[in-house]
Amino acid sequence: MARVIPRKPRRDDDPPIDPVGATRDVLARCEKAGFVCAGIAPVQGTAFAHELRAWLQAGKHGEMDFLERDNHIREEPGKIMQGVREGVGDGVQDREQQARAFIVVADQYASRQDSDHEPHEPLHGRIARYARSRNYHDVMKKRLHALADALRIDYPGSDFRTCVDTAPIMERELAALAGIGWQAKNTLIINPRLGSYVLLGVIATTLPLIPTSQRVPDSCGTCTRCIDACPTHAITPYSVDARRCVSYLTIERRSPIPPDLHAGIGDWIFGCDICQEVCPHNSPRPDPTRAGETHPAYDADASRASLSLLQVLGWSETDRREAFKTSPMKRASLAMMRRNALIALGNAIAGIMGASTDRTRVSELRDQIESVANDTNQPELVQQTAQDVLRRLEAVE
Ligand code: SF4
Ligand code: SF4
Repeated sequence: MARVIPRKPRRDDDPPIDPVGATRDVLARCEKAGFVCAGIAPVQGTAFAHELRAWLQAGKHGEMDFLERDNHIREEPGKIMQGVREGVGDGVQDREQQARAFIVVADQYASRQDSDHEPHEPLHGRIARYARSRNYHDVMKKRLHALADALRIDYPGSDFRTCVDTAPIMERELAALAGIGWQAKNTLIINPRLGSYVLLGVIATTLPLIPTSQRVPDSCGTCTRCIDACPTHAITPYSVDARRCVSYLTIERRSPIPPDLHAGIGDWIFGCDICQEVCPHNSPRPDPTRAGETHPAYDADASRASLSLLQVLGWSETDRREAFKTSPMKRASLAMMRRNALIALGNAIAGIMGASTDRTRVSELRDQIESVANDTNQPELVQQTAQDVLRRLEAVE
């Protein structure tokens, strides 16, 4: 839902806008707002319109139907300002102006200094790094709105629309155009200094800004580490089949996860960082001062790196709400979290079965899954997943 930003009208005696000075000013404000880097992207249709259409037609977006909507705006991004409502009461009207530039900003949410695959307790499910701290939507939107509001006051007559994740724009392509990084084979933006643990935000504006001229060259070269390491073979260079991606499966997919993908999910219960962990551009730097700085709002809560699978299985809705209060994990419903925990538990049991002689422990854990499979009070999603996991374990034995 677009936010209502009352525009300050332009008066005849307001000085003309100098695009060079305005660009310098905007970028300085982005830095002051704590964004680790920023740039200006031009307003032009996506260069990947054909690929995007083919990707959607092949159904590779899975259940993310929202990606099909407003696709014309991705091809004509100047239209992003239309539909932004302004005014109050009877005076509310849709704006008709075209965007003239995109201000693209990035926050670093994890340091490349700790990008190693860290061990964690047994029977715990892992959580992607971006979800171990405060909800980035809230952190970023608040600062982008403040920035847009200040610009609106200082540049009368100009419109601004803030976009974090939800607007129909190609954020990563815009980030590449703004010189923030290159769009890599795993489709993420990689900044040469910071790596890929960055979150992007955009302000579309009618302010005439000068696009950043310096682009970051693609430095993936002949590397295929992310493609080789992806546990579900979701990556083909520069494209990810969301239907196979563990991030999509554990966060976006609301229905049961196909059993043939269970093993690839491993111990992830919310997201997946593998294609970032293996990337050489995320490896620790010899000089940590050159590795960027994680914004304090994203200081990771160590207890959030993983969650006990058995605890998640036993959670009530109140427990889930309490645990995810300020977290982006609130996107996952209780049934989805139980589904994810069951799959990770099945994978853990399969691992124990191969390596341990502790048959009692294995059968205790199996009993827990069996009781979920037989519990008619569980949502169908959870019951069915428990049954799928049991079937897989029978096959493994
Ligand atoms: S997030 Fe995980 S599953 Fe998705 S593409 Fe990367 S490595 Fe593959
Ligand atoms: S792992 Fe290699 S191919 Fe993949 S994004 Fe990083 S540099 Fe590019």
